[in-house]
Amino acid sequence: MIQKKSVKRMFLAAAILSSSAVFSTQAAVVTSVRPLGFIASAIADGVMPTEVLLPDGASPHDFALRPSDISRMRSADLVVWVGPEMEAFMTKSVAQLPPNRQVEIAALPTVKPLLLKGNDDEHDHDHAHEHDDDDHKHGDYNMHVWLSPEIARQTAIAIHNQLVQLVPQKKQQLDANLSHFEDGLTKADKNLGSILQPVQGKGYFVFHDAYGYFEKHFGLSPLGHFTINPEIQPGAQRLHLIRTQLVEQKATCVFAEPQFRPAVITAVAQGTKVRMGTLDPLGSSIALGADSYVNFLSQLTNQYLSCLK
Ligand SMILES: [Zn+2]
Repeated sequence: MIQKKSVKRMFLAAAILSSSAVFSTQAAVVTSVRPLGFIASAIADGVMPTEVLLPDGASPHDFALRPSDISRMRSADLVVWVGPEMEAFMTKSVAQLPPNRQVEIAALPTVKPLLLKGNDDEHDHDHAHEHDDDDHKHGDYNMHVWLSPEIARQTAIAIHNQLVQLVPQKKQQLDANLSHFEDGLTKADKNLGSILQPVQGKGYFVFHDAYGYFEKHFGLSPLGHFTINPEIQPGAQRLHLIRTQLVEQKATCVFAEPQFRPAVITAVAQGTKVRMGTLDPLGSSIALGADSYVNFLSQLTNQYLSCLK
């Protein structure tokens, strides 16, 4: 625990140092979360650098902008984010940017029909208060859109189109980058689908309701989540329900996250045969670059596999 905290502090210090260092008029794409940086850096590869606002270890669910983040967004050529329901902390700053300097993924006409409803329909009384908590509310739709290969493709296309407008002299490179991204994604999609096939029927619980797009796309069988909003501890009734299913051996695994390791997961699994795994919905350790999004999907696949198989 102590070790994790100091690592977090180190990252924070590094982030502060580097953000003051990169303060320049140099053109850049700035994304909210890291996986969007994976997509953007593939498209902008060799054209301009990509920067991620959220430092490693932070979660979009409880992030507050630092003054340096605000200047970074202001000086960015293109800002890529999901939208106000995911990154509420960015809403004000993005509103000040001209439309050709931002991509709001959830608002793209090509993405809207692909959005999944959130799992807000389980009305157990324990988490009724979540609906009053507006600080971070997921709204009607699941906003973890970077976990959808289809939405990632549409996001890549949208970033490509904006960058072609902004730097038309680099159109050739941008076109080549987009087709590299799309080819890689098509191959990975096929490959990962066949790797995951043997565990499609294995039941499991995830810590927070983030993985719907990935699970639906690859036909996985989640039994549920501990919480919709990771900032809110699951209620007693929900924990009891999960515990019952673990005792009845309906689940093979429970998954925590590097960003959230609540003791509640360990407590619920105690004395059962269920395995503990980790899923990282933000790909914290993966470097940005042409193939980083595919690496992210592969890492997540391996995280599922290593616990489920
Ligand atoms: Zn989330």
